[in-house]
Amino acid sequence: MIEKGTLIIISGPSGSGKGTVVEKLINTASYALSISATTRHPRDYEKEGVHYFFKSVDEFKEMIENNKLLEWAEFCGNYYGTPKEYVMGKLNEGKNVILEIEVQGAARVKKIFPEAVTVFLIPPDKEELRKRLTGRGTEDSETIEKRIQRASEEIELLPNYDYVVINDEIENAVERINCIVKASKFESHRYIEKIKDFK
Ligand code: 5GP
Repeated sequence: MIEKGTLIIISGPSGSGKGTVVEKLINTASYALSISATTRHPRDYEKEGVHYFFKSVDEFKEMIENNKLLEWAEFCGNYYGTPKEYVMGKLNEGKNVILEIEVQGAARVKKIFPEAVTVFLIPPDKEELRKRLTGRGTEDSETIEKRIQRASEEIELLPNYDYVVINDEIENAVERINCIVKASKFESHRYIEKIKDFK
């Protein structure tokens, strides 16, 4: 029997560097990355099916109604959701699957999959967060302010996560997450079946 893969949920405020860390992670080890659906407009560099599946609000609502999403949430005026079929398929193949999602979605998935490993990524400090958000030049100033406000609300939820990783240097953050995933393979709940052999 194939051992099921681990579901790894990575959250963190806008500007925590999640996108870059996740991109590096999938290059360093064999992870399957879930591509979300969103109603947000694509940024210049974003490609359909690579960064997101870009949907109209009606298309997104149809996905909800047809039970195609594992979870979904509204974030700063747009909808975001995780396509269910891909995630379930990869986990059943024994692949470790990464979901890069915000805090409400993360809480919903953790409820359905208590064994999922949740990681909260944070920038070293508030100044760095603001610098990263304004420096990337992908959002207008109103959106940046909304995201900074949202970031301070999201950080309050840090204690709900299993692990916290400070993204001071990308390589460090990637290594820390790889260590967490390796250690998670030895969590005691994975051995409940095994102990039956010892009885
Ligand atoms: P962005 O617009 O910067 O790409 O993403 C905004 C927020 O939505 C980020 O915190 C990102 O992690 C989150 N997000 C992306 N995809 C999903 C998803 O499928 N579900 C949920 N709940 N959040 C998502």
